[in-house]
Parts: sequence; C-alpha cells; structure tokens
Amino acid sequence: MKLCRFNNNRLGAVLGDTIADVSEALRILPHYTYPLPCFDPLIANLDAVLAQVSLLLPQAQRIPLASVRLLSPVGSPGKIIAAPINYTRHLEEVLADKGINNGVESFTQHIRKSGLFLKANSSLVGAGEGVSLIHLDRRNDHEIELAIIIGREARNVPLGKALDYIAGYSIGIDMTIRGPEERSFRKSPDSYTILGPWMVTRDEIADPGKLEMTLRVNGQVRQAANTSDLILGVRELVEFASRFYTLYPGDVIISGTPEGVGPVVPGDVMSAEISGIGSMEIRARAGGC
Ligand code: MN
Repeated sequence: MKLCRFNNNRLGAVLGDTIADVSEALRILPHYTYPLPCFDPLIANLDAVLAQVSLLLPQAQRIPLASVRLLSPVGSPGKIIAAPINYTRHLEEVLADKGINNGVESFTQHIRKSGLFLKANSSLVGAGEGVSLIHLDRRNDHEIELAIIIGREARNVPLGKALDYIAGYSIGIDMTIRGPEERSFRKSPDSYTILGPWMVTRDEIADPGKLEMTLRVNGQVRQAANTSDLILGVRELVEFASRFYTLYPGDVIISGTPEGVGPVVPGDVMSAEISGIGSMEIRARAGGC
C-alpha cells in the first residue's frame, strides 16, 4: 500500500495516477492528551488504519494525483535521524572537496565512529510544499536518501530482526547549507527535510538493499546510485540507532546520500525517484533570509 497525506491533512491511498481519499480511516486513531506521546499516532496505529483503508477503498472518492498538494507522509515524527556519509563514493567526493587524498581507507569506519545525527522535526515538509532556500550567498545542496519509517518501538534491535521494526519507506531529501556550523544546524531550516511522495509499506519492498535512486535538477541527472552501495545498510542503521535511543513508530531514518551532491538555487525543480517507491518533484524558491 502507498499511503499519502495531501491537501488539508487528508489521508490517501495511491492507486496508479489517482488517490483514493480514505481520510475517514483516521477516525479510529485514539485521542491523546497532554503531554503528547513521542511517536506518530498514524504510524503507531498503522495496522488498524490499513484495515479501515481496505474497507473504505471500494467507495472512496478518486482524485487525480497530479491535482493534489502532497504533504509529508509522516505528520508528527518523534525524531528525524540522519546518517552522515554512508556511501564510499560520496566520501571520496567530500574528501576531494577538502583537498584530502587517500583518506577513504581511514574513513571507512567513519560512520561507526561519528554516529548518527538529528534534524529538527520543524524542517519536515512534503513534496508539494517545496523548499524555501535561505542564506543564498552560500551553497544549498540536494541529498537524495532512502528514508526508513520505523513502525514499532525498538531498543537494542538485533540485526536479523531489524526489518521487522520498519513500517515502510519513502524518498528523503536532506537539504544542506554548506559551511562550518554543526551539521544539524545547517540541515534543519524550515523545509530542509522533504519526505515523500508517500510511504510505501514494508511488504512492497522485498529488499531495501537493492533500490535504484536518481535525483535530477531541471531534468539533468545529478545523483544516480543503488542502496546496495550503502556502507551501513538499512538493517545496520536500525540496529545502530536503537543501541543509542529508543526508536518510536514514525521515527524517520534518512540513510545518507550517494555521490553527486550539488547546488540548488531558487527556481530549480528537483525530481527524485527511488525504485519501488515512486518519484516526486520539488520546487525551490527563495526563503526568508
Ligand atoms: Mn544527508
């Protein structure tokens, strides 16, 4: 199932080039009171929601996919976890940028040493919302990444069971202002995390380690890679993250970007595609400062 959020917080099931409006399924969600839980209510109740969606589908109103504004498929994640350099060829490219030769060998364990980092939840948008670029005197780069959406509370997950804790997958774009500040600061402005176009439930992706990904800017291919080249794969990322903090339903892990990162400027249109998930277009405009 491909589940999306669209327009005014509607819930949709994506069927080819149409969306079935199944927003009524959200009625089964429990009402939470203050303090709010640190998980996403939709993902925490996903099985019950999907059962409702199946019941609603035959009578659901169909809307052309092209006519809606897509929001982030996860509305209220507890945290957005991001992997730093997690593809060898992107590591080579970063080292070359810094004038470092032959550093790859010593950096191969880099991600194990440096760990993961967090992006602000307030940076999260969907494809239809676009990205508002700030600090236009500096490079704002695109990073396409496979996004993992956690489905169950997870702590110290064994590698062999890691996939059982995943609800589904999306495409993630980790927008990044280049510069000297801490990663999470440069990657957390409003709209700098794009998730979409929808969530594909785990059952539809037989092997998350064999997905083709492509990112184009104005039609030109910038990044093209396969998740088989991840240094820490999907299972390893879930295992690694869950050894440091509890993962909750709706937590998002963006798995790192391959080589080919490059600048995005206002007016550019990014198109991102991952096999088995789909594709999305994101428009870049000038933001506030
Ligand atoms: Mn990244």
